Amino acid sequence: PDAELVLQVRDLQAYYGESKALHGVALEIRQGELVTLLGRNGAGKSTTLKCIMGAIPKRYGSVLLQGTEVIAAPSNRIARLGAAWCPEHRGIFSSLSVEENLVLPPVIAPGGMSVEEIYTLFPNLAERRRSQGTRLSGGEQQMLAIGRILRTGSRFLLLDEPTEGLAPVIIQNIGDAIRILKERGYTILLVEQNFHFASSVADRHYVMEDGLIAEHILAADIAGAIDRLHEYLAV
Ligand code: ATP
Repeated sequence: PDAELVLQVRDLQAYYGESKALHGVALEIRQGELVTLLGRNGAGKSTTLKCIMGAIPKRYGSVLLQGTEVIAAPSNRIARLGAAWCPEHRGIFSSLSVEENLVLPPVIAPGGMSVEEIYTLFPNLAERRRSQGTRLSGGEQQMLAIGRILRTGSRFLLLDEPTEGLAPVIIQNIGDAIRILKERGYTILLVEQNFHFASSVADRHYVMEDGLIAEHILAADIAGAIDRLHEYLAV
């Protein structure tokens, strides 16, 4: 039987002022899946994550989290239902040390990782435990941002372009960590523009264009879809 639905989005619409950014997005994720949202700049990927997390005031349609309707719910309630968002610009406290950043997040569910477990997942962070946020490289900041959401105990992670601007070796470290999280049963919705990275970790892909889902591609079918994907992702 299919695993439980963690997220079901139907006819999601969103506005920035009068300007409509999402025109009826539909997607779903089951327990333990790793699904990507692909698409070029401005396609609506980040807006979709922000709507799921309750961070866009003008949003309409339906977002079911573990079967609970949250389209009109405030962000803190959505977080308490177990969805954790790692935004594009990382949201760490730059004046605090790595370890202080890891100690602070509120625990919303049992089973959050200990600080030591996070250091095992990201050995770079262990070496930098006393360093201030401002002194970290882009890759270390990204690892710390993911580490912070793992502390909360959330089992559903929304990651917005974790590889953006990072060197290949760091992208590989982050990919390894994401694969370990998947093995441990986390459910992950990953926004990416790096198709190579996305296809190395994901079970399925949704491709966004102009505020809609344009395609849905299973990992097994990716070879036959490569040419179309390049067109969608071309700048
Ligand atoms: P990117 O990788 O550049 O973030 P994206 O696919 O995540 O791309 P969104 O950031 O969701 O795209 O943007 C979707 C649309 O909404 C774009 O047309 C964008 O210009 C518009 N938009 C995004 N943020 C705002 C904002 N704060 N105010 C007004 N319009 C916005």
